[in-house]
Amino acid sequence: MKTAYDDTNIFAKILRGELPAQKLYEDDATFAFMDIMPRGHGHCLVIPKAPSRNILDVTPDSLSAVMATVQKLSRAVVKAFDADGVTVQQFNEPAGGQVVFHLHFHVIPRFDGVSLKPHSGDMEKPEVLAANADRIRKALNDA
Ligand code: AMP
Repeated sequence: MKTAYDDTNIFAKILRGELPAQKLYEDDATFAFMDIMPRGHGHCLVIPKAPSRNILDVTPDSLSAVMATVQKLSRAVVKAFDADGVTVQQFNEPAGGQVVFHLHFHVIPRFDGVSLKPHSGDMEKPEVLAANADRIRKALNDA
């Protein structure tokens, strides 16, 4: 199975500034922002800037850069929400649960006794996303 990268996907549009996002972090190779249908309080996403569809076609350099940002965001969300843990998820191709075809890692703060909500469930209120993004940006700045 080999499917080409399609630059009309939602995250490519966010990277080009054609769609809005609650930006959390950016460096030369990666970008992080809030998930608009969070599975938990503070759920965010980390993507590479270089085009890649998923884990199957990403270059090792781009993947390394993304993982470094995943760790940064994982530490930041735990600090921002005083979380008990963090779940990192990543899906590949429709059979693997992937819905948006630009590589991304989910970073979800976890709290004892609180289950994840359904994948791609309800849209979060913009004001809640904004407030959570502020907390994460503050934790990143204080790191
Ligand atoms: P998946 O491809 O299965 O990893 O899921 C895609 C994820 O992207 C889901 O968690 C969605 O809630 C999230 N999502 C979809 N559209 C947007 C958007 N415009 N901004 C932020 N997150 C999004």
